[in-house]
Amino acid sequence: MPPQSHRAGASAPSQNVSPNKKAGTQRPEANPKSHQFKLPTLRLEVRDINHEGADVFFASVTANKALQKAVQDVLLWLYDSPNSSTTTLPSTRSVTLILRSMPGVAYTTGSELDSDHKEIHFSLDYIHSIAKTRKTEEILGVLTHEMVHCYQYNAFGTCPGGLIEGIADWVRLNANLSPPHWKQEGSGKWDAGYQHTGYFLQYLEDRFGVGLVRRMNEKLRIERYEEKRFWTELCGRPVEQLWGDYGKLFPGDSKKAEDDECVIVEKEDVGTTTPKQQP
Ligand SMILES: [Zn+2]
Repeated sequence: MPPQSHRAGASAPSQNVSPNKKAGTQRPEANPKSHQFKLPTLRLEVRDINHEGADVFFASVTANKALQKAVQDVLLWLYDSPNSSTTTLPSTRSVTLILRSMPGVAYTTGSELDSDHKEIHFSLDYIHSIAKTRKTEEILGVLTHEMVHCYQYNAFGTCPGGLIEGIADWVRLNANLSPPHWKQEGSGKWDAGYQHTGYFLQYLEDRFGVGLVRRMNEKLRIERYEEKRFWTELCGRPVEQLWGDYGKLFPGDSKKAEDDECVIVEKEDVGTTTPKQQP
C-alpha cells in the first residue's frame, strides 16, 4: 500500500456507550516498572526546518521526552519486565522520527539496511493542520501509535492488518491519548482495525484479565496466525463469538452493520506500507 493515510475529521455519528470502565486507568501500579526498560537510540530528522509544521511540532512537544514517553508507554503495555519469561522484547535498536512534508498522517517502516532500525515518518502538513487545542495530545497520540509498530510482533507477517492496527490504537487508548472523535462500536467486522478493534481488545482485556493483549502479542511472536486456533487458545472460543458477545453491548449498532467499510476511512495512518514495515 502507498504511504498515504486518510483522515475524515470527526467521525460519523455513532453510539457512544461505555460497556466497560474507561481504558487507561486500570494499571497505575505498573508505571514505576516502565523505567526498567532500556531505551533504543532515538533520533530526530527534520527534512524541512522552515515548514510551518516544524514550528508547531517544537512548540507543542519536547522531542526527546515525547519519544521516550512513547517508547515507555508501548513497552509498559505490551511487555512484562525486561527479563520476564512471559514476554520477549523485540530487537529494536533505534527509532528515527522523520518529520517531512507528505500526504496522510504517519507510517512506520524498517530502515533499508536493517529492520531493527525503525523509521517513523510523520507529516509536517498534518501536524500543521491539527486543531490548536489538540496539537500536543494528537502529536503524542500519533507517535505512540507508530511506536507500537516499532515494537509489536506480527506472526511472521501473517497477522491481520486490522489486528496490528487495533493493538496500536489499544496502546494509544491506554496511554490516555485517545482523540475525542473515537467511538466504541459493536457493528461491522472485529478486525476493521484502529480504535474499532482497539476498543474490542479493551473489552477482552476487561473480560479475561489484564495482560491479555500482552499474551496476544507474545503469541504473535512465536507462531503464525491461524484464526480459530489463535483465539481459542487465547480466549477459549472463536473470535466471532467474542465479537458477537461484544456487539450485544451496543444494541443500537446492529442496523449499522453494513456500514463497516466507513470505519477505515477515519483512520490516521496506513500501517502496512512496505513488507518490512512491521517488526
Ligand atoms: Zn498504524
